[in-house]
Order: sequence, then C-alpha cells, then structure tokens
Amino acid sequence: MTRNGCGTKGMEGVSDRSPDGLAAPAPCGAGADWPRSRRLFEQALQVMPGGVNSPVRAFQHVGGAPFFVARAQGAYLYDEDGHRYIDYVCSWGPLILGHAHPVVVEAVREAAGRGTSYGAPTAAEVELAELVRRAFPSMEMVRMVNSGTEATMSALRLARAATGRPRFIKFSGNYHGHADSFLVQAGSGATTLGVPDSPGVPAAVAADTLVAPYNDLDAVETLFRQQGDQIAAVIVEPVAANMGVVPPQEGFLAGLRRLTSQYGALLIFDEVITGFRVAFGGAQELYKIRPDLTTLGKIVGGGLPVGAYGGRRDLMAKVAPSGPVYQAGTLAGNPLAMAAGLATLRILAEQKDTIYTELSRRTARLVAGLERAARAAGVPVQLPQVGSLFGIFFSRQPVRDYQGALASSGEAYRRFFWRMLASGCYFAPSPFEAAFVSAAHGDAEIQTTLDAARDAFQAAAEAL
Ligand SMILES: *Cc1c(COP(=O)(O)O)cnc(C)c1O
Repeated sequence: MTRNGCGTKGMEGVSDRSPDGLAAPAPCGAGADWPRSRRLFEQALQVMPGGVNSPVRAFQHVGGAPFFVARAQGAYLYDEDGHRYIDYVCSWGPLILGHAHPVVVEAVREAAGRGTSYGAPTAAEVELAELVRRAFPSMEMVRMVNSGTEATMSALRLARAATGRPRFIKFSGNYHGHADSFLVQAGSGATTLGVPDSPGVPAAVAADTLVAPYNDLDAVETLFRQQGDQIAAVIVEPVAANMGVVPPQEGFLAGLRRLTSQYGALLIFDEVITGFRVAFGGAQELYKIRPDLTTLGKIVGGGLPVGAYGGRRDLMAKVAPSGPVYQAGTLAGNPLAMAAGLATLRILAEQKDTIYTELSRRTARLVAGLERAARAAGVPVQLPQVGSLFGIFFSRQPVRDYQGALASSGEAYRRFFWRMLASGCYFAPSPFEAAFVSAAHGDAEIQTTLDAARDAFQAAAEAL
C-alpha cells in the first residue's frame, strides 16, 4: 500500500514527478506513479478554477500538479495512488494534534448524531468561548465565525466603528484572509502567485489600507505622525507565517502597542496561525503583549471551519445584537465545528504545561538537523523557528521582512520541495508558507525527514 515511506523511495519517483530539471517538465505534474491524482486534477481543471478550492493547493509555485488526498492519520497523508507522506503542512496549521485524532473524530461523530446545525444557541458555543477566554485573557468576549477571513474582516469593521476612523495599517507580507481591504501586499497564496493587489479590489477600498514593512517601527510611527487621526487600527501577525516564518524583532510588538495607544488606535493581533500554536495563549502570551482585539482560526476549529474574534468587553459590546456593528453567520458556532474545536482545545488545555515544550523540542531537533544537512551540502539557509512553527529560506541573510523573503531563492526551494516529496515528506509547495510540526510527529518521523533532507539540499544546491 505505502510504496514510498519517507526515504525509502529513492529516486524513481523524482524523474516522473518532478519538473526540476532532472526530467522534462510535466505540465500536469503527476507522472506514471501518480495516475489517479493526474486524472483527478485534469477533471478538476474542467470544473474548478485552477482545479482547486484554494490557490496554494495547486502547486503553481513549484511548477507541477498536486497529489489528491485519500485519507490521513497522525503525521501522515495518503494520496489516491497509495503514496504516504509525512505531512508538514497539517492543513496549513489547524492540526496541532495530527490528523484524525481519535478524540476529535469521536467528538465530531457524536455531535453529528445529534444534528448538524440548529441556528440556535448551544452549550458547546459557551464552553468554547470560555476556553478561548481562558487561553487569551485579552479576549474578554468572543464571537465565533466560520473562517479566519471572517474573523479579520469583522475585527476591522469593529475597529473602524469603535474609533470612527476609516484607515488601518497592515504589514507587507502579512496575510489576513481574502477580504478586499487586506489584499494589499498580502502574503501566502497572493505572494506565491505574484498578485499582491488583486483585480476586483476597488482602488477606494485599497486607499484606506496603509502598508508598512514588517519589523519597521519607524515606518509605522511615520504613518501615525502623518495621518494618526485617520487610523483605526494596526493589524499584525505577531509572528509572520505567511511569507515563510518571520519572527518579530525585539521591541517590535511592544512598539506597536505603545504607538497605537498613543494615537488612539486599536491593536489587532491576527493570531489565526499563532493562536494555540506558539503557546496555548498564542503570541500574546509568548511576548506578553495585550492587544485590543484578537482574531483566531485554524487550531480553534480543530480541523473544522471555525474562526473567532474577540477582545475588550467595551469593544465587543458594540457588536450586534448588543450593539450596532452588524456581523452574523448562518453556520457560525456550528455544532460539529464546536465539537472539533472543543475536543482539541480541551486536550491542549490539559497538556499545556508539557505539550508546547515537547513540540518545541522536536521542532528544534528537526531544525538543527536541517541546518546541519544544509551546511553539509554547502547551501545557505535560514530556518526561523517559533515553537512548532518554522520556515525554510534559501538565503544568506536572516529574513526580517517581506523584501528579504522575496529575495530568497525560490528555485532552490522548488528543488528541495520536489526531492522531499519524492522521498515521502510533504512541505508546503511554496517558500512563502510555514512548516507545522504536530504532536503526532515523533522522533522517528523527524529522523526519516532528516535522512531525506540530505539529498534534497544537494538538489537545492544545484540552483544556487
Ligand atoms: C489562514 C489565515 C487567515 C485566513 O483564514 P481562513 O480561514 O483561510 O480564511 C487569516 N490570517 C492569518 C494570519 C492566517 O494565517
């Protein structure tokens, strides 16, 4: 069944699968070894834009076609052609406990038996909100939504309403979902595809989005000095994880807290990735900063579609129906989604004193091993890590902002990616994404990954 456990497959998959110069480019990517995935992708291209429901899944950046997933368990993904991969994408962040965790699966099964949606309040929503508040004391009140995108757009609306100001500051390379206002120098898929400014976003809307380089406090201060009375909020990924991983430099987040307070603007931490990831209480716990509003997604839904926003009670009281700021959702607080989120957060809450240390330890071991393998291959690489989140930049210099991320070698990453995939290790199909380690990634999986990385860095070296 599993023909290419990590490191066992050797090179045969590469020549078919990879368009990395070792073989002719395969426009539909999957070769003889991936017949079902190739057929499915051809079908998908007829009925879905780019064959996918979210851009980065299309493998466009690495010049190939995606494998189609049949199932997943623990640290592993299994594709339609029977290959097995150690998964460092983990559904782009939600699966901190790994795939199909038995407790989470059972919770969803049970909830489904009681009905899939009511459109009326449930106990689970209250319990999840209480758990969120326990983890994030700054989130005195919480509203559940269906995605990170909904969370950020709603938080921004609230910030504008609360301050009576139209503009806000975001950072280049930070991704806050696909709402119009945020699609200005966004990271993630927008970076990957080279469309930081999407057609369809009205110029008038984009004009209210002010952009500063990440980690550049002076640029933020200048914007405030010039138009402070127009700025409702600063929204930031407290650890940037949609342009690869770029940690905040010493004093950056504290500086944002100081400037927003000084100019009467709100500080919004977009913790859709970092929430329950870099610490149980997210980046705000790790760096000891109290934002006014916080947005969550990914882990909070335990693998089902959930987002949340929350913050100061006086601000959240302005949200309908207790206040005039309108925001609603037919499936918000959905019982299956609440069940998956609750099961996940309960486990994290119970184990928070050990699980985050252990995840960090394993990730550090992986990162140190990757660094050694890269050095042995003579490849300059940056491997920023925060907890179980890390990135891989083929760059001589440490990366501190979007420009630095874009200056890293995409071609080296592409080669690394395909060689790892052929060896059964799935990293994000773009250098502008993060790698995620889950509780299901044991020392054995990490060792297998490191064994595969030696070859992959050799392949990357050919691009430099
Ligand atoms: C993923 C992500 C979003 C968007 O969440 P979706 O659920 O994909 O809409 C927003 N902000 C950050 C920081 C993210 O990583």
